[in-house]
Amino acid sequence: MLAGIQAGGTRFLVGVGTGPDDLRVREIPTRAPDPTVRALLDWLAPFAPEISALGVASFGPLELDRSSPDWGRIGPAPKIEWRGFRWGSLAERLGVPTALDTDANGAALGELRWGNGRGANDLLYGTVGTGIGGGAIANGRLLRGRIHPEMGHVLVPREPSDPYPGCCPSHGDCLEGLASGPALAGRWGRPAEELPPEHPAWRLEAWYLARGLANWVLTLAPERVVLGGGVLRQPGLLTALDAELRAVLAGYVELPSDLIRPSALGDRAGLLGALGLAEELLAARDPPSERGP
Ligand code: ADP
Ligand code: ZN
Repeated sequence: MLAGIQAGGTRFLVGVGTGPDDLRVREIPTRAPDPTVRALLDWLAPFAPEISALGVASFGPLELDRSSPDWGRIGPAPKIEWRGFRWGSLAERLGVPTALDTDANGAALGELRWGNGRGANDLLYGTVGTGIGGGAIANGRLLRGRIHPEMGHVLVPREPSDPYPGCCPSHGDCLEGLASGPALAGRWGRPAEELPPEHPAWRLEAWYLARGLANWVLTLAPERVVLGGGVLRQPGLLTALDAELRAVLAGYVELPSDLIRPSALGDRAGLLGALGLAEELLAARDPPSERGP
């Protein structure tokens, strides 16, 4: 049995099982690290003897270098009380091999393994919600660099008539600053879900998201793009984004007609990806060729 944790800014999902059809899940609201971790460990405790590995897909920024003594440390996250928390300490308390990656990478792996990314070798996952994030699979493997990718903070041109300054605390008008859920609320003065489909907000949203996505697609050359997150629940936005992306790229690269697909796993993509991370960790420790007869 595998265990997974999806760590988000408002809630955690913790689960045990082997995949979407065999999964027990508990939702835990995000509080300070101590009570949250206690709730996670309490829930996992009865399963502990059967758990062979844990995967964690977490908000960040995160130290992902396994050779670093700071492995698993949360950096300057917007959740201030979580800064300095170490996922390694939870792994030690649970006492099982633990794999860690970002929430977006986790969701990418979840969609690849069980969702709308199945069968793709080069997959891009993007989420547009409270933040904007992305995770990429290149040649079947999660793409990681010296640090983890922060695709949501790429820079995009300004729509000339848009006076909104952007809401990213670090960059102002990066993609997240211009097109996240909070950016929609800040620009138009009400929550994104209350903006009706005919509101000009959505044309502008597709305009910005298409430019961000164009950068991602030109850089990573995915064969498929899976998109999730609360903002993309807006009816028609995905279709408008697809059309705008093709207009922006102007035929320079040939895109498959079904390049963009909605997330199949929704808000469980990260949790399932966490199980996928645990599974990968076990496979790496115990390659099939080295197993006994
Ligand atoms: P989080 O990013 O915090 O994990 P979500 O992916 O659900 O959570 O994204 C939350 C954001 O999505 C909020 O900014 C909210 O305003 C926006 N949102 C939720 N539902 C809709 C909707 N139907 N249309 C547009 N925006 C929505
Ligand atoms: Zn930014």
